[in-house]
Formats: sequence, structure tokens, C-alpha cells
Amino acid sequence: MGYHDELIGAWADFNDKKITPLQLKAVSSNFGIYQQKDDAVMMRIRRTGGIITLADLETIAGLLAKYHVPYAHITTRQAIQLHGVAPTDVEPCLADCEAAGLRFRGGGGNTFRNVLVNPNSGLHADTAFDVLPYARALADAFYTFDTAYALPRKIKIAFADRADDRMLCAIQDLGFVAVMKDGKRCFETWLAGGIGNKPRVAFKLFDALPAEECIRVAMAVTDLFHDHGDRACRATARLRFLRAKLGEEGLTNLFKEYYAKADERGYPKCAEADLKPETYPLTTLPEGVPAAEGFENWKAVACEPLADGTFAVRLFVPFGNFTQPMLVRFCDFLRRFGLTRLQLLVSQDFVVPRIHKQCLTALYDALLREFPDFDLTLRSYVGHIPTCIGNTVCKIGAADSPRIGERLARALDAWLPADTPERQALARIVTSEVRISGCPNSCTAHPAAKFGFQCRKLGGQDVLVPFSPAKHEPPTLGEPLATPIAIEDLPHCLLANLGLL
Ligand code: SF4
Repeated sequence: MGYHDELIGAWADFNDKKITPLQLKAVSSNFGIYQQKDDAVMMRIRRTGGIITLADLETIAGLLAKYHVPYAHITTRQAIQLHGVAPTDVEPCLADCEAAGLRFRGGGGNTFRNVLVNPNSGLHADTAFDVLPYARALADAFYTFDTAYALPRKIKIAFADRADDRMLCAIQDLGFVAVMKDGKRCFETWLAGGIGNKPRVAFKLFDALPAEECIRVAMAVTDLFHDHGDRACRATARLRFLRAKLGEEGLTNLFKEYYAKADERGYPKCAEADLKPETYPLTTLPEGVPAAEGFENWKAVACEPLADGTFAVRLFVPFGNFTQPMLVRFCDFLRRFGLTRLQLLVSQDFVVPRIHKQCLTALYDALLREFPDFDLTLRSYVGHIPTCIGNTVCKIGAADSPRIGERLARALDAWLPADTPERQALARIVTSEVRISGCPNSCTAHPAAKFGFQCRKLGGQDVLVPFSPAKHEPPTLGEPLATPIAIEDLPHCLLANLGLL
């Protein structure tokens, strides 16, 4: 029986009114398939490290058309969600996804969630080694590791190929940062961090774990969490609360007991044969196209130089959302220019690595010409300030965070005219380091940002709790500041914090 069979059965029973929404949720949430506030359905498709091919995107565009799904959304965990699926379409849509190899198991609920990988792994000048093959091997091994789908709460894992992206790993239940030791691949390993209720930076479990051990360590941590996590109280169920109870030494000792049984329990090592390197095909963009107006500003914000002299280009996706016609046009664009492998970013954008310097003007020109109605080049801040999906969709949200982000973006657009050096200087910060979450669940990881904000209700009004800036070295989370601010004061607050007022 496939993993989706139980899920398909539950949806059939729900549509036949044989089970309640609560009974459905008990099965469906573990696959990242939830009823939205409007009773339509959200379906979250996993993508390890956010890697997605043109063929995957074309499949998703086909699903949007076939099932009249209003839009697809890039998530803050490098996954992609279908929003507004009719409850009666969930079963056939699932079957289509399964046929196309799109996975749901562990998309939500008390399970092993989508594995994060920092952008452009293996391609930076300061990369230790490419971690994507390890992330993929781990996700594949966990797909059939049933313990990981019956946990007290969710477990989150991330990989980074360099110390600069350590923070991504330090805010997970388990994080692996690539380091080289004595010429061997290793992972600096971080344990029991998290950013929801009572956020904490993880502590270092290993300075240099041999890289091939990462799956065994992850399985030992998962089994430990399965057996010892708090199943009585959801609010204190995450691994970081077990750390609070046992202390770092106590949790480390408990981990060692489980890890010592790795052979006995059959935890696999990362086999060299399973470590398939990521390859990015050459594009067919023309070279030497004259630079259109605004090119240098766009290049400064959207293009990151890579170790081999090429560039990784960030394609900004307004609100992280694609309607079906827009996704079809985007796929057509990607196909014509040979851009067949992309990575989803936690900022809800795409990045396309390995674009030759001589082709950047052609790419910019084509993006401007072909998408005048879809701002992939950051002409405006609207839709490009990272927020979670907010309370119009999410049942537990306190406020409409995307609309709060939009309001801030419009104010910044008005304050900083296009193509000014000030706007360019601010753009990277605004599109990556400003984050707004709709509730304390912190889906944008705002405590790990320089300028984090959390929505809450105060006296029936929406307000924002500003957080102090996070620090990267050593990883230190921002703290909520005592006085919440009104939504309309957000632009002033941000500009003042940036020292621009
Ligand atoms: S932060 Fe809160 S409101 Fe936003 S998506 Fe997460 S749970 Fe929902």
C-alpha cells in the first residue's frame, strides 16, 4: 500500500461525510494537506532543498489548470503549495501528483518536515562542499523511516555548505554545516534549536561529524525525540523543550545512547553511490545584449557572483504566488532560455545558478519585456518583503501579514524613488532581512532576521511586536521588544532602525 493510499481513503470518507473535519485532519495534516479558512484545501508539495525542475513546474501548472486552483505559493520552507483546491478534487489531484513523483508525506503535522538547504550550495567561493546530495540522501532515507511520521511534534532539519549560512542550521531541531577536517568532509552539527514558542539557538553537538554519518545522527535524534518528547502538552513538545528539561549535557548523553545503537537499529550511512551531485545545464541566453535601464541596480541586488565566475540570479516572485496563466508563461520563458533547474528560496523567490556574466543583460532585458505585469526584477518592493501566508488562509494566524508587508512596501517605494543608490543599498536588506510573521509560530523565522516583526492582537487591533536584530556570529536570536507598534508606524520604525531617519 502506498503512503498516499490512507490519505486518499480519508478524503474519500470525508467527502462521503463518513468522517469529521477533525478525523480528516488527523490523517491529512501529516501530508501537509489542510483545510483553509474558507474550507477549500491547501496541498503542500515537498522539495528537498527547494530544488525544482522545469518539468515539476510544468506539472504544477497543469494541476492548476485541471483543477481550477487559484494559485501556487512558494513557502518559507522551500516547498510549494497549491491553494484553493476543491475538497472533492483532492483525491484525483493527489493521484496525479503521485504519478508525477511529487511527494507529500511529512508536509505537515507531527512529522519530519521539508529539509532546507542554503542557496547555491557548492557554488560559493567559501563553500566547504556541496551539501545537496547529503540532504537528498537523508530525505530519501527518511521517506520510509516510519518513526519520523509519528512524533510528539514536528522535526526540522537543514544543511548549509558554508559557515556564512550557519544561522539557517542553528534555528532547526537539527542542523548540518559543512566543514573540512584533515581533508575529509564533515558536518558541524547543531541540535535542539527552533524559532516558534520560546525560541532558542541550537547547541553544537559535534564540531566535525564525518559527513557520511549525518543520516544515522538524524535517525538517532528522531528515535530519541519519538521516545522522550512531550506528548501530553503540544506547547512544550518540540525537541528544544526536552533540552530545557534535561540540559544540554543530559540531552547529549541521551543522544549518545541512541547513536550507539545505530548499527543494531540499521541506520544507514550516506553511501557514496547515493550522493548524486547537482548539475545545472548551460543556458541558451544570448550574449552581449545592451544593458537596459536599471540593469546595474538589478545586478547589484539580484545577482550573486559564484566561485566559477558565473552568477546566481534571484528571480523575485511577488508574494511568492503564481496564478496558472502566469506559471505557464514563466515555464515557457524558462524553457526557451534553457533554465531547467531552479531552487526555491525561503524568501519565497527562485534562484537560478550558473548564468554567465555576458548573458545577464539578456536575462534582465527578457524579464522586463516578457513580464511587464509580474515584477520578477524588484521594480517595486510590493510583494517582495518576506511574510508568511497570513490569517486570510492560515487558521491560526493573528493578522494578514502579506497585506501588512504590502503596506510597508508601498511606503518604502514612495520614500525611495526607483533607481536611486539609497534604494539599491536598502534592497537586499528589505527583501531578505525584514520578515513579518502572522503569529508566534514564526514561519518567516523573524527572530533570526535583522528586522523581525510578529503580528498580534491587542485590544482587538492588529499590532506588531518588533524584535531586536539577530546576530550571526555566534548565532543569536532577536528578542521581542517591550512595546508593540501600530501597523501604520511600521515604515517609520523600520527606517529609524536602519538609521535612515
Ligand atoms: S506564522 Fe502563524 S499565521 Fe503565519 S503561516 Fe505560520 S502559523 Fe500561520
